[in-house]
Amino acid sequence: MTMTDGFAQRPVESALWAPFAPMHSVRQSRTTIVRADDVWVWDTDGQRYFDGTASLWYSNVGHGRTEIVDAVTRQLRTLDAYQCFGDFANEPALRLADEIAQRAPMDGGKVFFTSGGGDSIDTAAKMARAYFAAIGQPERTVLLHREHSYHGTHGFGTALAGIPGNRVGAPFAPNVTQVPHFDPAALDRAIVEHGPERVAAFFCEPVIGAGGVLVPPTGYIEAAAAVCRRHGVLFVADAVICGFGRLGNWFGIERFGVRPDLVVFAKGVTSGYQPLGGVVAAGHVAEPFWDEPGNILRHGQTYAGHPAACAAGIANIEILERDGLLQRSLKLEGPLAERLDSLTDHPLVDHARGGTGFMGALELDPGYLAATPGLPGQLMQAVRRHGVLIRPMGSALGFSPPLTATEEHLDFVTDAVRAGLDDIHRTT
Ligand code: PMP
Repeated sequence: MTMTDGFAQRPVESALWAPFAPMHSVRQSRTTIVRADDVWVWDTDGQRYFDGTASLWYSNVGHGRTEIVDAVTRQLRTLDAYQCFGDFANEPALRLADEIAQRAPMDGGKVFFTSGGGDSIDTAAKMARAYFAAIGQPERTVLLHREHSYHGTHGFGTALAGIPGNRVGAPFAPNVTQVPHFDPAALDRAIVEHGPERVAAFFCEPVIGAGGVLVPPTGYIEAAAAVCRRHGVLFVADAVICGFGRLGNWFGIERFGVRPDLVVFAKGVTSGYQPLGGVVAAGHVAEPFWDEPGNILRHGQTYAGHPAACAAGIANIEILERDGLLQRSLKLEGPLAERLDSLTDHPLVDHARGGTGFMGALELDPGYLAATPGLPGQLMQAVRRHGVLIRPMGSALGFSPPLTATEEHLDFVTDAVRAGLDDIHRTT
């Protein structure tokens, strides 16, 4: 064990190959989290950290909710699992589908469950193409996505990646085109250039998350949705991050008054207590499959509608509602933005982003970034030594605490970030 600023850094020899990880250095030092309660997590040395990112943007109701644990345990004792293909169902899946459909910002929504966000993106891509094939427009196959977008790392998600470094192994899917992230006119041009009769769907995060918390300019989402409607292109809202309270509502996209054709969700649907994701298809998209005999979406994953995951989802929605966490998220977005703004006087910080949703980012100073390779990672480690977990996202640091956080917690985060910035500034 080596010591850094009083914090234990444990070399942990294990075969565990972590996602998105520089394994050469990670194998020298890992933080193993062993316990969590509400906004706090603890590592093997008993060190406590504030969960400044709700783990990977998902711990919306916070950690350690016994109601969810009990709901999952009860379900596993009654029925551990049984498949949901064809005419099979289980009670939690039936109930959760209705709970989600009722809250979705579209008419007659139908819910297709998966095991996570990437599964759901693949599902939405195939569903969009299958829908057009079913209504006699099989040539509508082109999928559009935006610069800076993150739609997971499955085949379609990688093809739809707007973060260039994530396009590992691409090309994966033909007929995928990227458009600038905040320009509805460019979206219109791309559709016209392909020929609208060839374009199936446009994938859009309400607020771009992993790409650096990029809040759309006023009117952009509405204008992009109008362009899609005009050309008969399906508007797919990727609410994997923005859903279940992060933007103060159920699916994020309501914030912009847009009624999507498909909504992709995951993460906050269970707050991470079980892996689950899915797609809500508006009634008109589901119609050819639901109302006409012979049309089958030949697609689905083994654990789709897993009863324990759906039980977690039901309990999670109950908590979000009972504890008023959607409203709380709305209340906290301003205070988080203020705290991040207060850090922009620091020489290592260029500007703060956020203010729409309980999520934000600090963009680092370009001069220091150029002069200090690995600066975002160094800052993450430095802030961790002051007891707060945040994430580097490209040239920025990201923040998205559980929706149960308080203003006092935000002060704690602000102090820790400033201390971490000072530590690194002294050495640069
Ligand atoms: N879409 C968005 C907007 C996401 O942020 C993510 C995950 N961060 C995904 C899709 C993929 O979800 P998963 O990691 O569960 O596959």
